[in-house]
Amino acid sequence: MLDLSTFFALLVGGSLFGIAALWLYYDRRDHHYYDLLRQRHAFHCVKCGTLYSLRQHEEVGKCPVCGFQNQRLKF
Ligand SMILES: [Zn+2]
Repeated sequence: MLDLSTFFALLVGGSLFGIAALWLYYDRRDHHYYDLLRQRHAFHCVKCGTLYSLRQHEEVGKCPVCGFQNQRLKF
């Protein structure tokens, strides 16, 4: 049978481990989320002047207004 101090040591250790695990999980999840947001690329239509953004990796993006294929904006 466990004595009281061992029981509390396990309880505190387990809680700290649980908090650390949750913290790491949410931290990594947020990083992944912001990485996805950053992957949105901006485009400027040379035909009709519309500014738009698309979540894709291609260098060209189709304008949602006139359908013209535009090059990705580079910053
Ligand atoms: Zn356009």
